[in-house]
Amino acid sequence: MELCDRSACDLVGMLKKREISSREITESVFKRIDEKEDTINAYITTTRETALKQADLADKKFRNGKRTSLLNGIPIAIKDILCTQGIRTTCGSNILTNFIPTYTATAVKKVLQAGAVLIGKTNMDEFAMGSSTENSAFGPTRNPVNIEHVPGGSSGGSAAAVSGGETILAIGTDTGGSIRLPSAYCGVAGIKPTYGRVSRYGLIAYASSLDQIGALGRTTEDCAMLLNVICGHDSLDSTSAQVKKPDFRRFLNKGIKGLKVGLPREYFVEGIDTRVEDQIMKAVKVLGKNGADIVDISLPHTKYAISAYYLIATAEASSNLARYDGVKYGFRSNQDIPDSVRMYEETRSEGFGKEVKRRIMLGTYALSAGYYDAYYLKAQKARALIKDDFDKAFEKVDCMITPVSPCLPFKLGEKMADPLQMYLVDIYTVSLNLTGLPGMSVNCGTVDGLPVGLQIIGKAFDEEMVLRVGNTYEKIVEEDV
Ligand code: GLN
Repeated sequence: MELCDRSACDLVGMLKKREISSREITESVFKRIDEKEDTINAYITTTRETALKQADLADKKFRNGKRTSLLNGIPIAIKDILCTQGIRTTCGSNILTNFIPTYTATAVKKVLQAGAVLIGKTNMDEFAMGSSTENSAFGPTRNPVNIEHVPGGSSGGSAAAVSGGETILAIGTDTGGSIRLPSAYCGVAGIKPTYGRVSRYGLIAYASSLDQIGALGRTTEDCAMLLNVICGHDSLDSTSAQVKKPDFRRFLNKGIKGLKVGLPREYFVEGIDTRVEDQIMKAVKVLGKNGADIVDISLPHTKYAISAYYLIATAEASSNLARYDGVKYGFRSNQDIPDSVRMYEETRSEGFGKEVKRRIMLGTYALSAGYYDAYYLKAQKARALIKDDFDKAFEKVDCMITPVSPCLPFKLGEKMADPLQMYLVDIYTVSLNLTGLPGMSVNCGTVDGLPVGLQIIGKAFDEEMVLRVGNTYEKIVEEDV
């Protein structure tokens, strides 16, 4: 196996024993990028020169025998929605095509302080709006498992890079499923932590009450290791939670005997591809056979989740995206317009893509006087009901299992003409953003060569449970092979 295909935990072990160097790992990753990037397009920007320097620095630390930090020498890719000082940060949009931040996001700072090697900034749906990474101004990303198919979105570049060996670890963001869906479609592991667990300082906002930063890796253990580094309170983000920072790897091997695992019946109804359902039920059986107690539960307001999400997300986006006006930063229309309002209009019409414009219009409409109560307020009420459902169900269970997506990774172009079809792909993921709960995707095999993701949902700030179940499932399946 080439170094670029190994798990981060394996590589940490090999580095510590001095069997390999960070330079070797980093060169292996860039060799793969050279081979695959023309087809996959996982990156918007790569930072080869500085990466090799960072790798050499990491190796020097090992040579000097100093105590090294957690990710010393491990390659990482960052979704291009997180600000990186001196490195272009585009958010997949023409409007930020020339934006070079003057500061670095807290999560990125933390991984760099932990010794990680930054490989580059990954491709994404413009402003994280999408489920396929086709809405990028820098062209679509393809799924390395099958290049005819989408990698999922919006963190499709991060997931494809991990899946194809173009990085070892990656950071993504999840507003309605954008870590879990691409992880599922590319067959890797990805966790969206509880709202507030990871500082969002330096994250370009899409929908502020839903956005969360999280980890992608080849295994659950890799995700746990990365989460250990990026989580924690940050005074620069007033929504970051003042909670204890656990060691997410501590309970990974505690097993699942006696755990109560809920199966929400509303997640297994019409609309789901039966091939996906069968695959998920196989995984549920595996968990049951290994000691978990499978419990039937109900989340009765699930049917409102998509509508509530797309109202709230677009409403918040319409407000957050008002700042792109051609004045403060980013692109400005170069037509010579003396009138400032017309300059804003031209800049925004030229700078934003089709889906982003659609959402700004939807959101502006939902927030406008006369419609606010009928749409935005209604959506917030539905959100409260959905949260109640989870609170009640969690009185009976320790975690829940569902599919990540109702369908298999679809073909490029298949859903682009019909936005509603694209929105429906998020049916099983958006509720966790509406409620702030943690969830992850672990791979549970393939159907016709296409990966299926198992979603594990936990109580607020109980990522340890989510990761423990994910890791146990991965280990059982590994042993069976
Ligand atoms: N697909 C969802 C959307 O387009 C979720 C995106 C995300 O999580 N960033 O809004």
